Amino acid sequence: MTDFDATRARFVLPDGQIYLDGNSLGPLPFGAEAAMRRVLEDEWGRMAIGGWNRADWMGLPDTLGDRIGRLVGAGPGDTTVGDTLSIRLFQALAAAVAMTDRKVVLTDSGNFPSDIYMAQGFLKHFGRDRSLRIVAPEEVEAALTEEVGVLMLTQVDYRTGRRHDMAALTARAHEMGIVTVWDLAHSAGAFEVDLAGAGADFAVGCTYKYLNGGPGSPAFIYVAPRHADRAETVLNGWLGHAAPFAFEQDYRPAPGVARMRVGTPAILQMRVLEAALDIWDGVSMSDLRARSVALSERFIAAVLDRNPALTLASPRAPEDRGSQVSFRFEHAYGVIQALIARGVVGDFRAPDIMRFGIAPLYNTGDEIDAAADHIAEVMATQAYLNPEYRMKQRVT
Ligand SMILES: *Cc1c(COP(=O)(O)O)cnc(C)c1O
Repeated sequence: MTDFDATRARFVLPDGQIYLDGNSLGPLPFGAEAAMRRVLEDEWGRMAIGGWNRADWMGLPDTLGDRIGRLVGAGPGDTTVGDTLSIRLFQALAAAVAMTDRKVVLTDSGNFPSDIYMAQGFLKHFGRDRSLRIVAPEEVEAALTEEVGVLMLTQVDYRTGRRHDMAALTARAHEMGIVTVWDLAHSAGAFEVDLAGAGADFAVGCTYKYLNGGPGSPAFIYVAPRHADRAETVLNGWLGHAAPFAFEQDYRPAPGVARMRVGTPAILQMRVLEAALDIWDGVSMSDLRARSVALSERFIAAVLDRNPALTLASPRAPEDRGSQVSFRFEHAYGVIQALIARGVVGDFRAPDIMRFGIAPLYNTGDEIDAAADHIAEVMATQAYLNPEYRMKQRVT
């Protein structure tokens, strides 16, 4: 059994705060500070440029990729780390589009805007006669037709937590000759993912949500080994070249997923991510999922029981959810602000959704009960009508 008291003890969790926003930004791991000090003092400070070799900075994107790969069901050597999720999504989509002559890229309206915007930009400028088709999440399967070349989905809906069945949709897509791109932003570190088992073609994700790598920590990209030596790179950065230090005039992609590297890796942030990933050593993903379901069910029951004005925006069945619970309410923004003032941190997504991330590495049953009590008090006192709580900030 995974010791979740031990994993919780590895995070900085201020007294009096209940942090239910790890689906947006994971909290600070204690190990991060020491890791940052080591990279500054022992590596950058002492070695300066020598760190690329002596501290194996140049190998970090791939070693971190393998550690994340274990959490998402990727084999060793199939995942690399760097750049941002939006960029990784662009790369994966471009590579997938290059594998098909069909004209339609299919996605759903539950996808995160950045993924849709990146696809729109890519297709507008480089897609020739290709276009993006956006259908409702529940219509995706029926929309897998012979016109569709690429299926680009985020597995878990950032607003509702609704989860797609990756294995089933990938299998259906492949039957129809469609290449798949999965965004695991709200999957990696949230529950078991089996990329290899599902046969996914490309996958991308970020590391600052459930993986706790810190604000702006680098993203990851997975390329199925059957495609990795042929995948088009499009963003032909020098570090994806087969021999970066040969400084050849023409681009020649590296074999394997290393070709998806672009430019110089962000070493400081990668060392912090490495410390955050240490916490996952010894964590069983099936234990993690069992705890996520138990905490989520407890939260849903406690909140719905006492607050008839709130409706569940997430699917009721645990197998249809990721690891977040969302409710709808007219004054959702005010409720979230009132909760934050009480130390219960969730977040708001327009127009009327309040989101609560359940992160089994550190969230506990007592926190869930206390958060539900706070919600009931905010609802009963209508604290959400307080003008102070209704003023929109830049980041919601
Ligand atoms: C969080 C998230 C992003 C954010 O992308 P960045 O480039 O890291 O800002 C993109 N897509 C999805 C699905 C997300 O959940």
